[in-house]
Amino acid sequence: MRNFMAALVAAFVAILPVSATEVTLYNLNGEEITVSSGEAERLRRDGWYYFDEIYTVVYSEDGRSVNALTNRLDEWKNAGWYENMSDVRTTLYSEDGRSITVWNAEVKAYLAVGWYRTPEEVHTTLYSEDGREISVWNAEVEAYLAVGWYRNPEEVQTVLYNENGEEKAVWNAEVEAYLAAGWLRSRPGIDPSRPMLALTFDDGPGPYTDRILDCLAQNNAKATFFVVGNRLGRYGAQLKREAELGMEIGNHSWSHASLTNLGDSALASQINDTNTKALETAGVCPTVMRPPYGSHNAAVRSAAGMPVILWSIDTLDWKTRNADATYKAVIDKAKDGDIILMHDIHESTAAAVERIVPELVRRGFQLVTVSELGQYRAGGLTAGKAYSSVR
Ligand SMILES: [Zn+2]
Repeated sequence: MRNFMAALVAAFVAILPVSATEVTLYNLNGEEITVSSGEAERLRRDGWYYFDEIYTVVYSEDGRSVNALTNRLDEWKNAGWYENMSDVRTTLYSEDGRSITVWNAEVKAYLAVGWYRTPEEVHTTLYSEDGREISVWNAEVEAYLAVGWYRNPEEVQTVLYNENGEEKAVWNAEVEAYLAAGWLRSRPGIDPSRPMLALTFDDGPGPYTDRILDCLAQNNAKATFFVVGNRLGRYGAQLKREAELGMEIGNHSWSHASLTNLGDSALASQINDTNTKALETAGVCPTVMRPPYGSHNAAVRSAAGMPVILWSIDTLDWKTRNADATYKAVIDKAKDGDIILMHDIHESTAAAVERIVPELVRRGFQLVTVSELGQYRAGGLTAGKAYSSVR
């Protein structure tokens, strides 16, 4: 009987896996030892540990991984290793909607061959004439444009006016309904079949802006003011008045920099900071952009995100500082569709405007903003495109 019991115990022990009774332990010198579980209990009181108690896996940005002693984790982190694999992996996106997760060290190489860091960069928002929006992969854009979607909301909207001269941008699909309800395609008093031109004023606002605004308002005339961002704090009241009188606000950069010499981020700040400041100051965002010195290239036109407005008549008012010369420069040459360049920071220009505006009106010109000129003469202006006149 005793033999039978011994055999039974032996058989029972035999079917237990060997590993269940063996344990591997580690010490802080990186040595390991495999012992029975009973022995392990004793060793664990003597500087030996289970793996997970003293090791942490760390990852490098080029895809390596190492078991690091947990009590020395700070040293590993200082040397550029990371505890979370997600810290060394980056998800990238392609223009046709694929995504891929790569080691950080590989990111540059992937960006160079058409992958992008954010889904936003590979998506484009498109608009329909009835006011719908859709976000599609960049690779699909051309196909969508071919079937009646558009890149800019402006392309699918039309500005209409009511009897009080209030403006409203409506979806193209709604235009007929608005016209039937008494809305007009042009500002009251404006007849698109008659001559019109756009007076533009750069480099302000300034101390003579109010004089020019008074004159424009008295003659029921509109103009476009290309403002310099860093003047909007000091001349905020003038900017507000420009907006209240229905003048168009244009962006003339933050500090009158020559934009073609700037890097991408400096260029973006010159434009965006001015937009932001105008919005904060007068609640209006510039709708058109004129680069200082008229100096532009593809990068500037793209960063503008608005129609880029040059001029067809340069009065050289900044150079002559002579009201007679400025008056003559305009009156001798003005014709339908012109965009006329002046600067509202000179007293001589304000004096010239007080004669120019009534004389142009007397000659039958309608004085409109640049965007109105674009609307009446070309069905609207396009962002990123440069105009020196619209006929
Ligand atoms: Zn300027």
